[in-house]
Amino acid sequence: MVFLITDLDDTLVPQTESPIGDRYLIDFNRIWTNELVSKNSLLVYNTGRSITLFYQLVHQKSLLLPDYLICGVGTEIYRFLPDSKLEKLQQWTDFISQDFFLEYIRQVTERWVSSGLVRLQSETENSAVKQSFYFDPQQLDIIQTTVVADVEASLCSTSPVKVIVSVQHGVGHLDIIPFKANKGTAAMWLREYLGVAPESTVVCGDSMNDYDMFFCSVPIYRIAVGNCEENIRREFLKVSSLDPHFYLASKCYAGGILEAVSQTVTVETKSGDLYRGTLHDAEDNMNCQLKKVTCTGRDGKITPFEHVFLRGSKIRFFIVPDILANAPMFKRVEAIKEGKTGRGLGLGRGRGFIGGPVKATIRARIKRQRTT
Ligand SMILES: [Mg+2]
Repeated sequence: MVFLITDLDDTLVPQTESPIGDRYLIDFNRIWTNELVSKNSLLVYNTGRSITLFYQLVHQKSLLLPDYLICGVGTEIYRFLPDSKLEKLQQWTDFISQDFFLEYIRQVTERWVSSGLVRLQSETENSAVKQSFYFDPQQLDIIQTTVVADVEASLCSTSPVKVIVSVQHGVGHLDIIPFKANKGTAAMWLREYLGVAPESTVVCGDSMNDYDMFFCSVPIYRIAVGNCEENIRREFLKVSSLDPHFYLASKCYAGGILEAVSQTVTVETKSGDLYRGTLHDAEDNMNCQLKKVTCTGRDGKITPFEHVFLRGSKIRFFIVPDILANAPMFKRVEAIKEGKTGRGLGLGRGRGFIGGPVKATIRARIKRQRTT
């Protein structure tokens, strides 16, 4: 089971023309539909877009309808019913809307609208728990030092809010949302609401808008796609060598998601040590190299390694992600299992599995049969 929560713009879907990004999206859709839907996996989109702009994107791109949609920068959560109808999770809205006094927020922001510094966005972009404005990106400094400071100071005692300033494709956006709402808190609330374990949860993003989702305190798995913003890249480079929960993909857009999810494996050796990391190389005899590895010893001691080589003869079993079913290495293993070739190794029956960033359904107990 995979609980995949992904940002849309410039993570799953390229915002500018990108034939390779479009192709990755088609690959992602195919693999998700063919390999994961039947395994109770859940797909969640987590976007700053309103519900209206989400449907615009669905019509523009070949986007699968998700199981859940978090939209409006974490202010609304919807469930897609089997007939594609939407059901709003009102519990979330009720939770975040306490202390969010819309009328008072409008009063405070009115002076900045009158001055022309900000312009209220259309009705579809606003809600009872979100007020959004446009501004000229050339005024970014003034917005940050004057408007944001004023709004925060005016509202902090009565209606604590979060003010988000961003520039997207040449347009300035200023969003005022409840203090408790962001892409991270909404994602983790939904995870708890559905009772999904952290180790089955993967979040994907590309920009500072995804920061709260990336750096939440729950030990979920986080993927920054290869085309991510420079500051996100820097943050991931800093932490990913120390913490295997962070993965900086080399491929862009949905290709980065597939790359990251498909390469994380867990290996148990015959001595009882568990190695968890990204699969760098594997041979038919199951000799393999892992990178960014966390080794959990039989005594529970955890040791990080940058690079590990494991002999196939020492391996008791592999746990590989669902998506790896499409990988060439696993195709070879399947061929061996079906007796199409007998060189090198054989497969026993599954012996249980441990949670990973993606819970494995492929359970391969691998027993090396090569004669010495
Ligand atoms: Mg994005």
